Amino acid sequence: MTAQIIDGKALSRRLRVGFRERVERLKERGVAPGLAVILVGDNPASRVYVGNKIKACEECGVRSLHVGLAVDVSEAEVLATIQRLNDDGSIHGILVQLPLPPHIQIARVLEAISVHKDVDGFHLYNVGALVTGTSIFPPCTPYGVQLLLDTTGIDVAGKNVVVVGASNIVGKPMGLMLLQREATVTICHARTRDLAQHTILADILIVAAGKPGLIVPQMVKEGAIVIDVGINRLPDGRIVGDVCFDEVKKKAAWITPVPGGVGPMTVTMLIENTLRSAERAFKAADEDEFQEWEAPIVKSP
Ligand code: NAD
Repeated sequence: MTAQIIDGKALSRRLRVGFRERVERLKERGVAPGLAVILVGDNPASRVYVGNKIKACEECGVRSLHVGLAVDVSEAEVLATIQRLNDDGSIHGILVQLPLPPHIQIARVLEAISVHKDVDGFHLYNVGALVTGTSIFPPCTPYGVQLLLDTTGIDVAGKNVVVVGASNIVGKPMGLMLLQREATVTICHARTRDLAQHTILADILIVAAGKPGLIVPQMVKEGAIVIDVGINRLPDGRIVGDVCFDEVKKKAAWITPVPGGVGPMTVTMLIENTLRSAERAFKAADEDEFQEWEAPIVKSP
């Protein structure tokens, strides 16, 4: 068997065509969707990620605001910047590029972002909403994986899904999102004993560990769907995932490449969340929809 390739680049391109149409519809109604990206310091990798996000905004007609803050900026100044953006009606999404310098508490910063503009989906409210299946802004990487899975036409309900990696931004939300779709989910991590014993049972194997070569064919069930979230730079400069692609491709039914699989989808879903936020803001002006949505937040213990 040779796996069919799940092409994240192609899906991203298709989605972005639809985004441009949505932007036009919003603009006709006087709303220009806007995303603010806050970058603290000048970590080279973070600069590249922020650059990619801003480029994607330009491609889709979304206005982007790049807020660069010095590496020694105080936490209070970061929080004040977020507050200004929360109050700015022309901004529909706010994203703080992680990691932050150690003197700034990530949790405080993420919780300062208005839940209505939390397009990364990292605010505790949106994290909690994943548990109940009511998330407005699912985190971008697992959201992208979900759409990639949809392109296979295979229903995840009842399938054995094994997620390798249990981070807050990928593994845990991924597990919750597929549990919501009635998959049987196992989440493995660095302390899991005998990883292969779990992965071999997976109808759908999603790997987000950041360990090149972690998944070899002996760990994969014949005919499985394999999604490789990992992005690793090898000493020779090549970018690879966590899955031994060439070997596993011969056993799986579907597989994502790296690069060109999950990576492009992450940025695309950020734009999706930003557009959704702008559309919600537009509707709310007419229908008081935000008021209704706010109720569970206010009441939660
Ligand atoms: P992380 O370091 O926060 O978490 C890694 C997880 O993998 C942890 O739960 C850890 O316990 C687990 N793990 C590590 N070694 C393992 C092993 N040998 N066996 C089983 N589990 C193991 O990483 P993250 O932020 O979740 O990112 C994971 C990978 O995904 C990285 O390569 C990252 O670059 C990539 N990533 C890609 C995208 C994308 O858009 N494609 C987005 C986010 C992260």
